[in-house]
Amino acid sequence: MHADSQHSDFWNAASVAGGRLGVRLSSALLGLLSLCWFEFASAQTIDSVRLHRAPDHTRIVFDLKGPLEHKVDRLSGPDRIVIDLSGAELGFDMNSLSLARSPINGIRVGKHEAMTRVVLDMNDAVRPRTNLLKPIEPHGWRLVVDLFDSDPEPVRSMEKVVEQQAGPRPMIVALDPGHGGEDPGAIGPGGVQEKKVVLEIARRIYRLMDAEPGIQPVLVRDGDYYVPLAERRRIAAEQHGADVFISIHADAFTDPRANGASVFSLSNRGATSARAAYLARMANDSDRVAGVYEEEKDNSGLMGVLADMTLSGSMSHSLYLGKEMIEEMGSFTRLHGNRRQVEQANFAVLREPSMVSVLVETGFISNPEEARKLQTAEHQDKIARAVLNGVRRYFEHHPAPGSWFAEQRRNGGGTVASHRIQPGETLSAIARRYSVSESALREANSLRGDLIRVGQELRIPGS
Ligand SMILES: [Zn+2]
Repeated sequence: MHADSQHSDFWNAASVAGGRLGVRLSSALLGLLSLCWFEFASAQTIDSVRLHRAPDHTRIVFDLKGPLEHKVDRLSGPDRIVIDLSGAELGFDMNSLSLARSPINGIRVGKHEAMTRVVLDMNDAVRPRTNLLKPIEPHGWRLVVDLFDSDPEPVRSMEKVVEQQAGPRPMIVALDPGHGGEDPGAIGPGGVQEKKVVLEIARRIYRLMDAEPGIQPVLVRDGDYYVPLAERRRIAAEQHGADVFISIHADAFTDPRANGASVFSLSNRGATSARAAYLARMANDSDRVAGVYEEEKDNSGLMGVLADMTLSGSMSHSLYLGKEMIEEMGSFTRLHGNRRQVEQANFAVLREPSMVSVLVETGFISNPEEARKLQTAEHQDKIARAVLNGVRRYFEHHPAPGSWFAEQRRNGGGTVASHRIQPGETLSAIARRYSVSESALREANSLRGDLIRVGQELRIPGS
C-alpha cells in the first residue's frame, strides 16, 4: 500500500507538466497503425548509460538497441528534468553514475506499463536538449540528453591575458587533446582509449609550458567530454587569442606492426600520402561519432580557408613548426616510415587562418608496444618535452613582433635564429617577417644581391 502511494506520487509529482502526456499517448495510438510505430513499440532494455560533464553542460547518453520514442520535460519548484522512455526498461542502475561536478542532485527511476520515467533532481536549472543518434562505429543507436547550464562556468578570457602583460606578450599555445566524451578515438590492446592517453599527454605539455617564460598554454579540452571540431578552433582563436594550435592524437591501423610518431599540417594541394588522407578522414569523422547538433557541424569552406592561410603565412609557418616538432620527436622515438617530413592533409580541426596549426600523432595505440609506452608517465613526459622544445625552437626562429621571444633576440638573450628558405620566398619577405632590414640580412649572410636558394639557411641578425 505504502509502496503504491509512493509510486503514484512519483508519477503525479513528476508529471506536473501533465496534459501533454495524454496527447502524446493518443498520437501514439494512431501511430500503432504504421510499421514505424511497431518498430518503436518493440520493448528494449537499456543496459548502458554514460554521463560526461563538460564546462558548460552535462551529457547523459543511453545506449539503445534501436530507435526510441522519448520526451524530455523541464519542471521547476524544485527544478527537475523528466525523461520519458517509451517501450524501454532500464537494465542499468542510474545511481551508479558519477554526478560529481554536475548540477544533478539525484536520480529517480519509475516504471509505468511500457514507459520508463527517469527524474533528475537538479541543484540548478538547466536547458535540456535531446539528440537521437543513428549507429556509427563504435556505437549503436544512442539517445543523448544534454543539460546546458543556465550559468556557465566563467572561461578564462583574452582580457586576463592582455591585462597581465606589462612587458612583451607571451605566445599563446592552444593544446587540443583529440576526441573525448562519446568519441573514444582509436582503441588499443586492452581497451586503452586514445581520448584518455592524449588528455594525459596534453596536460603534461600544459604543465611544462606553464613553467616556461614567454609561453602561455591553454587547454581546449580538459576532461572526458567532446568539443565539436569547429568549436575547438573557435575556443583557441577567439576565446584565447591563440598564436599556435596543437592537436594531440594517437594513431591506429589494422596492422598492429604499424608504428612511429608523425606530424601533420593542413594541405593546400591534397593529401601528401594515402595514409594522411585516411587519417584526416578518420579525424574529421569525430563530430559524427560524438554526435553534434546541426549548427555545431563544421562548415568551414576549405578553399577559402586555404587561401586565407596562405595569405596570412600560417600555412608556411605551420610547416616550420611541424618540422621543428618532428625533429624533436625523432630524437627519442621512431618516426612513422622513418620520414622526417611534415605530412599534409585536410584536417578540419586545423582550418583556422589566424593560428599556426599542427596535429601530432604521438604513436600507434594499435601497436602493443607503443600502446604500452604511451600509457607510461616516462614516455608521455618525453613526448611533452619534445612538443615544448619544438614550439620553443619555432618561436626562437620566428619571433612574433612584440613577443617575449622578439625581445630576447633584441637583448641577445636568445639563440641566434636561422631561417631555411622555402619555395617562393624572397629576401624582402623574409626581412619583413623577422622585422630586420634587407641590408642587415645581406650583411649577416654575406649576400651580394637578392639571389637566394630554396633550402638555404639564413642567419637572422638581432634587430
Ligand atoms: Zn585521433
